[in-house]
Amino acid sequence: MPVKNSFADRQDEITAWRRDIHAHPEILFDTHRTSALVAEKLRAFGCDEVVEGVGRTGVVGVIKGKATGSGKVVGLRADMDALPIEEATGLPYASKTPGAMHACGHDGHTAMLLGAAEYLAETRNFDGTVVVIFQPAEEGGGGAKVMCDDGLMERWGVQEVYGMHNWPGQPLGSFAIRTGPFFAATDIWQMVIEGRGGHAAKPHETVDPVVCAAQIVSAAQTIAARNADPVSQLVVSVTSFETSSKAFNVIPARVTLKGTVRTLSPENRDLAESRLGAIGTGIAEAMGCKATLDYTRNYPVMVNHPEQTEFAAEVARGISGQCAEAPLVMGGEDFAFMLEERPGAYILVGNGDTAAVHHPEYNFNDEAIPAGCSWWAEIVEQRMPAA
Ligand SMILES: [Zn+2]
Ligand SMILES: [Zn+2]
Repeated sequence: MPVKNSFADRQDEITAWRRDIHAHPEILFDTHRTSALVAEKLRAFGCDEVVEGVGRTGVVGVIKGKATGSGKVVGLRADMDALPIEEATGLPYASKTPGAMHACGHDGHTAMLLGAAEYLAETRNFDGTVVVIFQPAEEGGGGAKVMCDDGLMERWGVQEVYGMHNWPGQPLGSFAIRTGPFFAATDIWQMVIEGRGGHAAKPHETVDPVVCAAQIVSAAQTIAARNADPVSQLVVSVTSFETSSKAFNVIPARVTLKGTVRTLSPENRDLAESRLGAIGTGIAEAMGCKATLDYTRNYPVMVNHPEQTEFAAEVARGISGQCAEAPLVMGGEDFAFMLEERPGAYILVGNGDTAAVHHPEYNFNDEAIPAGCSWWAEIVEQRMPAA
């Protein structure tokens, strides 16, 4: 079963939706235009139920099969939000909003799930119920969690959930997946190091937090290099080093460090948090300063469930003749929150040889639409086969 003919036929229409969404990117929960567009299309397709405002700006559509006797309910999720990046593609349908851009391809994800919803509402060739989920705020706002907290899974009785992301560098329209931990937990932290400021020509009369913070930055590298099991994955990055002085000749009283920790296991997550605290406190004390760590657990590890992953891979193989084992990703994905609530799987669809996601020259590849839509439709038709 290759790409469904129906999606080859619908590709131009779905591409037009995608480019319209691309030209009007919206950030975090402010996906008002996109959410309205999604809801309007779902109603036009004849969905049995369309609910807006789930998890602030999320949209849910319900499509019942020809029969529903199986009692099965499958959730399909796409993300709708863009990034605060200035687009540099020069495309005719480039962002019309300065400082915002669909640089992660969520325009493509939304359009593909709409395409699948249109087909499923038309054909209804399955026994059960499909819940199409369009979420805001994947890029940092935890929109998936906000939708779950709004009762997404319970309100519509969702039993399993599936997600998809386009992947630059992966052959166009091909698939890749892995079972178990897949995308990293993305924690953020801030450490304030306090000393005593003064004249830069009289360092002996100060307690210099800059030198102290520099030691902490260096020592933080030992968490991954010396503390974590080398065959496990752990990233500790310092991304901001800011002092309270703007002058050439003043030793500041305070330095603020910011960074992120990426892990794929609860053990490494605990380890990174505790070691970061111990290194900060210990070095600061040794140098006469005081360090305070503020560590925030952000998106959890995204873990694919084995049974649903095997099924998702089987469906992918039916469409493109292959399904590769995806590499581990140290980036985050808030679909992790949905996979904590229900079993399911998340797959990558190849975007071909394009700029990477989050790059100002990135663009979703419309040629991936038939494969992506076919995967959504086959997930439904094979998971809930009609009698
Ligand atoms: Zn992204
Ligand atoms: Zn993304």
